[in-house]
Amino acid sequence: MARRKESQLDLHRVIMVGMAGVGKSALTLQFMYDEFVESYEPTKADSYRKKVILAGEECHIDILDTAGQEDYAAIRDNYFRSGEGFLLVFDITEKESFHALDDLREHILRVKNDDKFSMILVGNKSDLDNQRSVSASDGQAQASNWGIPYVETSAKTKANVDKAFYELLGKVKSMKGSPTGGQGKKNKKKSKSKCIIL
Ligand code: GDP
Ligand code: MG
Repeated sequence: MARRKESQLDLHRVIMVGMAGVGKSALTLQFMYDEFVESYEPTKADSYRKKVILAGEECHIDILDTAGQEDYAAIRDNYFRSGEGFLLVFDITEKESFHALDDLREHILRVKNDDKFSMILVGNKSDLDNQRSVSASDGQAQASNWGIPYVETSAKTKANVDKAFYELLGKVKSMKGSPTGGQGKKNKKKSKSKCIIL
């Protein structure tokens, strides 16, 4: 594989969105480090960088794990503006967390305006299927309604965790390479891709 300097790698910015407790941090840490963290500081917003291979090309992914505390509301718009891919996460055992995504998604659409971005709907805690309060078909229906993919994950068992991130990244990457892709309304900007096709 042709290698590039770290600084020349294409960078994709991904943001974890969802109510507190849905597993945003657990999903992030599972994707980053292959471990399930039982209790992660809920007030902490953190960003992570990982090198991944997308369609044979090395790229960097920046993940912003949002926290939802006081300071978050004030800087949330800046977070959202910087995002290219959004994981809209809910907890399949908490219906409220599913409905909370309506407002969060609307907020992103407002803030992003005509920018290009991609989203994926993630129903987390699939290992707790016996406590499920949102059916897979309701999750799927909402995702179809929004025109985005739906994935059910477990940050505990790692089921579908990589799939969720890579599916989103694939969308982000192809959107950035296409002048008309993305979920934004006007899609004016055409961003340069620094990845080399091998
Ligand atoms: P955040 O507030 O969205 O970042 O949520 P956290 O990642 O802190 O997770 C909240 C709680 O749910 C923690 O106790 C996690 O251990 C737990 N949790 C997160 N993901 C899963 C999962 O997939 N399955 C189960 N059983 N618990 C989870
Ligand atoms: Mg968290």
